[in-house]
Order: sequence, then structure tokens, then C-alpha cells
Amino acid sequence: MPETETVTPSVTHRTILPLLTQASGSERMFPTLTPAQMKRIAVHGRARPIQPGEVLIDAGAQVVPFFVVTRGQVDAVLPSGNTETLITTHGPGQFTGEVNMLSGRPALARSRVSESGEVIELDREHFLTLVQTDSELSELFMRAFILRRVELIAHGLGDVVLVGSNYCSATLRVKEFLTRNGHPYSYIGLDRDADVQVLLDRFHIGDNDVPVLICRGEVVLRSPSNEQIAECLGFNETINQSQIRDVIVVGAGPAGLAAAVYAASEGLDVLVLETSAPGGQAGSSSKIENYLGFPTGISGQALAGRAFTQSQKFGAHVLIAKNAKQLACDRQPYAVEIDGGMRVPARTVILATGATYRKPPLKNLSQFEGTGVYYGATFMEAQLCRGEEVIVVGGGNSAGQAAVFLAQTTKRVHILVRSGGLTGSMSRYLIRRIEQNPAIDLRTQTEIVGLEGNDHLEAVTWQDNKTGAVETHNIRHVFLMTGAVPSTQWLDGCVALDDKGFIKTGLDLSLDDLAAAHWPMPRPPHLLETSLPGVFAVGDVRAGNVKRVASAVGEGSIAISFVHRVLHG
Ligand SMILES: Cc1cc2nc3c(=O)[nH]c(=O)nc-3n(C[C@H](O)[C@H](O)[C@H](O)COP(=O)(O)OP(=O)(O)OC[C@H]3O[C@@H](n4cnc5c(N)ncnc54)[C@H](O)[C@@H]3O)c2cc1C
Repeated sequence: MPETETVTPSVTHRTILPLLTQASGSERMFPTLTPAQMKRIAVHGRARPIQPGEVLIDAGAQVVPFFVVTRGQVDAVLPSGNTETLITTHGPGQFTGEVNMLSGRPALARSRVSESGEVIELDREHFLTLVQTDSELSELFMRAFILRRVELIAHGLGDVVLVGSNYCSATLRVKEFLTRNGHPYSYIGLDRDADVQVLLDRFHIGDNDVPVLICRGEVVLRSPSNEQIAECLGFNETINQSQIRDVIVVGAGPAGLAAAVYAASEGLDVLVLETSAPGGQAGSSSKIENYLGFPTGISGQALAGRAFTQSQKFGAHVLIAKNAKQLACDRQPYAVEIDGGMRVPARTVILATGATYRKPPLKNLSQFEGTGVYYGATFMEAQLCRGEEVIVVGGGNSAGQAAVFLAQTTKRVHILVRSGGLTGSMSRYLIRRIEQNPAIDLRTQTEIVGLEGNDHLEAVTWQDNKTGAVETHNIRHVFLMTGAVPSTQWLDGCVALDDKGFIKTGLDLSLDDLAAAHWPMPRPPHLLETSLPGVFAVGDVRAGNVKRVASAVGEGSIAISFVHRVLHG
């Protein structure tokens, strides 16, 4: 068991935040365990006395044990300099921790004894064993941890302060990165708070340094990359680069996360690499309504957060903001080279890199990405364009969902499609909702031909290809939902691709493909196996995939059964 620190930080000011303690459903967020449940937990840990003032877990601690209070009281507080905010108090039968307990990331809050008594202490390893073997407790902890994290996010309570501007694309990128990684932060907008601008000027923090991210109240990062943020917040555990993994999954969208959950739960040593944040394209969807088991829909963010936590529960290693740069496919074991120089070997590889957004050929498009041009319609973007007119470009389901969602909070939504209508490209239920919504205008055979603005998009010009008429409108927000291209450039000829760059697998690989790839096995490729034995492709990146969350999840999980065959065949 790790030794715990006994320090009493000098706290000069203490605020009490009753929100978490009084939140609705607090019994699920802070449940009281039964004596029988506590007995089952005690088997995995040790009982020990606690004294007032003793810090059981400090904010930022890398090693985070799990505590159940049997007697006395433990406060959870958020420290900031010499001040502390009381989040909640754990009494007998209650337990410490939140999502970081599973992910192995540093603690966000400090747990300090406020009344002497006794606790049961489990280190993370024993806690994970308990979670994997006791389904009743696993469900109870998981629910409590997720609800606690959701509450922290809702109140902007965490160890990160972001200072930026909503008119700055780097600020929006950092906001998106933190949000999609489910990390709570507080935000100070320069657009509204002139005092902060004065402060930045005094510290010679110029426009190019914005946004500024204050990490754990200690480190100040100027215009940081996602990788720097991940490093500062301890998102990634240190990994052993010489260890040969059973399977490396590249990409943590729905397909990659499903592969990670099934691989880890079936005892495989799995490493997942993700360029940005878990969830992939699905993470940017405001509401997925056709995923089995969620009759009222689920946001992509919530689905991704749950899947990520689930993969952690089973012990998958997920590296965030780590881009796979190259696949070393001329030897076995294979190796995946990661940006920054790491190289990790693996017996099998699952390619789940999905696709990226297709962009119209507008010369100044990148100038407005994040400052008026968006590729996803989540609550974050909806807040930015509340009460204004917006344009949604595209005729597929993602465009339809975005239009219906944005119509709830904006003045008017113009859907622009190049084709003559939506039939054939969009689900019938969405077409009906669009037709019935007076706030949505459908403009067929129409495309954007110009964007104008300085720091932010101010006007859009579109052309009606039926009549040739060109119109300019003062519209400040455009949502491009025009499909995607596969993320396969980095594979550099390792696997056979179709003419659009998607990865060919299984029966789609012709004899010519296999001959060209020097397929070395007497057996044909398995379902989902690429032209390289033991390398699989799943989800949107795979040729023939139907581009849905359910199919990505299905393929990710199926691939694991073939990984077993390759490993043990
Ligand atoms: C706005 C929107 C709404 C949608 N709504 C729905 C819906 O309602 N229902 C539905 O069924 N489908 C929906 N879809 C489609 C669905 O989201 C996709 O089919 C699904 O996300 C595909 O999952 P995937 O894991 O294969 O790929 P992706 O989701 O594209 O994930 C791939 C991941 O791989 C990562 N990656 C890429 N290259 C690398 C690399 N070199 N190294 C490391 N990581 C890498 C990416 O960062 C990404 O996170 C929607 C899509 C969008 C964009």
C-alpha cells in the first residue's frame, strides 16, 4: 500500500459549495454502502485509523488510493492557492473518488479528514480488481464517479483555468479538447473581462500567446498544443515501450473504444492511441438517436465518456493526444511509431482511424475554422450562435441532425445541398422533421461560393445553381456536414486501399490485391483483416463500412475474436 501524506496545508479562506452535496440525485452520486458491501470491500484492503487534518489524497497526487469511511468524516475540497472550496463531506459508509480513480490520472480534489475515525483503504490495483469482479459494486462506483465528474464539469470545478477569446480558433480548439476529454475547467473570456486583458498585458502575454492555460494553479501554458495540455494534466500513464502488446488499437472513436473494451475485458494487453480525444466523429454529435438501447438518444460526448471509462475499468491503456505516425509493417512483431518519437511493438494492430471532414474548396476556409465555420454541432457551438441565423451544408444524416438541433436555439437554419433533394441521402425521420420545422429552410442545388470577415465570419455568399443567382447574407455561423475522407495517409502503402483511400478487408480483397501485398498465409484473410496478416481495419476507415456508430462498435468488438485467432492460431 502506498504511504499517505499527513499535511495540513495552511488554508486562509474556505468557501462552501453546497451544489454537489444538495444536487438532485445526490444519493446516487454519494451513496451509502450497506454493511455487507463494506465487508466485501474490506477483503481487498486494510482498515486504518484517521485523524482530523490528515490528507488522504492531495489534489494532483499521481497515486490515488480509494477510501471508504467506516467511522468519522472526510471532506473533499478543491484547493486553489490558499483557498479551498468544500465540495462534499463523506460520512460513514461513503467513499472517495471520481472518474480519475479508474483512468489513473492525478486526483482533482483533496480528501482531508474532518472528524477522526477509521477508513478502509485500497490501492488502485486492488480497487480495479474489485471493480472487475464485483458487478454490483462496479455499477454503484461507476455511476457515482460519472455523476460526480458530470457535476464538476457543470460547475466548472477543476484544476484548469483557461483564459481566451471565443473569436480565437486556438481557444475553441483547447475548449473542445478539454470538453471532449471530460476535463472540468473554468473559463475567463477576454472578450468580456477587460481587467484580465490588462493583467495579460502586464505579463507581456500577447495575442499570439492566447489562449493561456493555467494548469493545476502552477504551470502557465501559452497557446498550448493538445499534447502539452495532456502532458500537464497527466492524461497519459507512462508506458513501457519495449513491451510487446497483444494488440495496438489506433484511434479511439466508437470502433477503437469498442475494440479496447472487448480486448481488455477478454484479458488482452491492449494499448490505444488517439490523436485528439476519445469519441471520434461521434463525440461531436449533439444527439445520436439511432444507437441501440438509448430510446431518447444520447450525446456523442456522453457515449464516448462512458465507453472510455468502461475501457479503463477493464484495464486498457489509452494514450490521449498521441498521433500514430507510421506503421512499421515490414517485420513482426509490427510496431507503431508515435509523434514525438515513441515506437511501440505489437503482435496485432487494429486500425480504427475513421475519417476526417470533407471541406469545400473555399480559399479562406481555414481562416474561419472555429470562428464561424464548424464541423460539429454540439451544445458548445449552439451556445455560440444562439438567436442568430446559421447555415448547415450537407444532405446526410449528420447535416439533418445538426439542422434539427440548431433550429431549437437559433433564429433560422438554412440547409444548403448541391443535389436536388434529401431523399436517398438522409433518413426519412429526419427529412420529416425538417419539412415540419418552420425555422428550417432547405435550399437545393445551392452551394457556398464565398466567405467574408476578419477575426470572425461575418457574411456568406451562396449560389443557386438552378438559376445562377448569387446572394450574400450576414450570416456568422456555417456548419459543414459534408462527409469525410479516410485517415489512411499515414499507412504509407502498408495495406491495400480502395480507390477512395478506404482500407480493404476480408472478402473485399481480390486475389490481385493479395498477390500485390505478398499475402504470406495459406488461409485467406479473416473478416475485417487487411492485406497484412494480424492487422485489422474497423469502423469508418474500412471500405464498405456503413458509417454508423453501431456498425463501428460492432466491427471493433468482432475484430477482437479474430485477434484471438491470430494470437493463438
Ligand atoms: C456530427 C456527426 C453526427 C453523427 N451522428 C450519427 C448518428 O446519429 N448515428 C450514427 O449511427 N452515426 C452518426 N455519425 C457517424 C458516426 O459518428 C461514425 O460512423 C463513427 O463515429 C465512426 O466511428 P470510428 O471509430 O470508425 O471513426 P471516428 O469516429 O472517425 O474515430 C476515429 C478516431 O481515430 C483518431 N485518429 C485518426 N487518425 C489517427 C492516428 N493516426 N493516430 C491516432 N488516432 C487517430 C481520430 O482522432 C478519431 O478520434 C455522426 C457523425 C458526425 C460527424
